[in-house]
Amino acid sequence: MSPPSIEPRLPSWWLEDALAREGDPLPAAALEGDTTADVAIVGGGYTGLWTALALREQAPELRVTLLESEICGHGPSGRNGGFVHGYWGAFASILPLLGEERALELAGEGERIIPGIRAWAESRGEDVWLIEGGMLEVSAAPAQDPVVDKAVAAAASVDRAEHAVPLTPEQVAQRVSSPVFRAGVFYPECATVHPGLLVRALRRAVLDAGVTLHEGTPVTDVRAGSPNELVTPGGMIRAREVVLATNAALTGWSPASRNLTNFGSYVVLTEPAPEALAEIGWTGGEAIVDGRMFLHYFRTTNDGRVLMGSGSGPIGFGGRVDERFSRDQPTAERAEAGLRRLLPGLTGVRVERAWGGPIDVSADHLPFFRTKPGTRIHYGAGYSGHGVGPAWLGGRILASLALGTDDEWTRSPLATRDVPRLPREPFRRVGGGLVRWAIMACEAAEEEGRRPPATARAVAALPRLLGMELGTR
Ligand SMILES: Cc1cc2nc3c(=O)[nH]c(=O)nc-3n(C[C@H](O)[C@H](O)[C@H](O)COP(=O)(O)OP(=O)(O)OC[C@H]3O[C@@H](n4cnc5c(N)ncnc54)[C@H](O)[C@@H]3O)c2cc1C
Repeated sequence: MSPPSIEPRLPSWWLEDALAREGDPLPAAALEGDTTADVAIVGGGYTGLWTALALREQAPELRVTLLESEICGHGPSGRNGGFVHGYWGAFASILPLLGEERALELAGEGERIIPGIRAWAESRGEDVWLIEGGMLEVSAAPAQDPVVDKAVAAAASVDRAEHAVPLTPEQVAQRVSSPVFRAGVFYPECATVHPGLLVRALRRAVLDAGVTLHEGTPVTDVRAGSPNELVTPGGMIRAREVVLATNAALTGWSPASRNLTNFGSYVVLTEPAPEALAEIGWTGGEAIVDGRMFLHYFRTTNDGRVLMGSGSGPIGFGGRVDERFSRDQPTAERAEAGLRRLLPGLTGVRVERAWGGPIDVSADHLPFFRTKPGTRIHYGAGYSGHGVGPAWLGGRILASLALGTDDEWTRSPLATRDVPRLPREPFRRVGGGLVRWAIMACEAAEEEGRRPPATARAVAALPRLLGMELGTR
């Protein structure tokens, strides 16, 4: 593999672009001294910000404070690929996991996400580059063909075939032409956004809604009580209700740590190349994924760039979110290699930027939202690389948990299902690392038309034998 043309670094191009459009504003003031709130939210990504908005909407009398360790959008909410979807694209996995009734319930909840974001952005006059072009899942090797077939069969089995439409290789080529694309499946329920513009628009909305925001305010200790106490370097906040929306950082916090681990995901972004896109016919704004387990995800931008991501980054240890999640050159390299293999029509188009971030992976690949038993501390994570849309649901669920209401949100499968536990450390890191190596070895061999080595095949099959979705093939 050739070295990447660009080393991964932060901030992401998205966040840099969004901040530049705002005139590079100063962060909100850090918390100084002791204060109180009715609800204190930790984390200024999509989850924390949607939670704050839902709370102010449902209970405008409550004093809501949001604490963010850096600036809003510093985390994956300002770095992601910008795919926005509910659960039809994952229906083949959630159907056996939840059963037909609950899977349809979740898919129905997911159907509200894109219209919800669209209506919200329109009501605020915010342009977040929302393009509703659907998502194409393509098989890029014979071994990936079953992924397409399973997706089509799952939607058809519940009489919702319109949510996973099979495409022949010729029909795929009409949307985007690549010599390695085979058959595909089209999911109408997907949009793309400019993640940086979305998270910063949410920050503006939260401030307009009267939420008190402190940036540059890491919470260093969470003490459960009545009220709860959140300790920060400059002071403390006491609040009856606490919402922890810190995503990957929750992997180190019990009880969430039992169900969560972190993987890295990295993207490369090309220079604008609208002519090259026109040449390969990719002008419909479709988001695309391949059929790998550690998938490639790719999309175009309003200014004719291509973002190519690879979810094959390193696995974390004990919840530490360190440089493995933002400076891992081999994963950026794999993303760039994916760009060159999957879209050879873009040869000569330069990669301008690369960056990465942590993905909070749950054992069944679905997020979960809970209240810590015996406390008024609510939390949610586990989006498993698919949180841009679902955080809209997460915000509503966490707001209802904080308000103590029994409603459609607190009854969602995301709030009520049993989440499988992951093995304890160091088995989680060692086992997860081995499975990751094995799956990557299998997928590389399959793409090159070789039979994967027997050891890799055996290790890659382990999670399924143990009843886990993590790294399942
Ligand atoms: C490279 C990459 C590509 C991705 N692509 C997609 C995609 O295309 N589609 C999709 O659906 N999902 C994607 N994801 C996942 C998606 O970005 C996340 O699921 C989503 O942003 C989660 O939002 P969040 O608000 O829960 O978390 P975050 O965005 O991580 O926000 C959490 C915030 O908490 C803050 N914080 C952490 N600890 C503390 C503390 N102790 N005190 C105060 N603040 C703290 C952090 O600074 C951060 O700002 C991608 C992720 C990555 C990394």
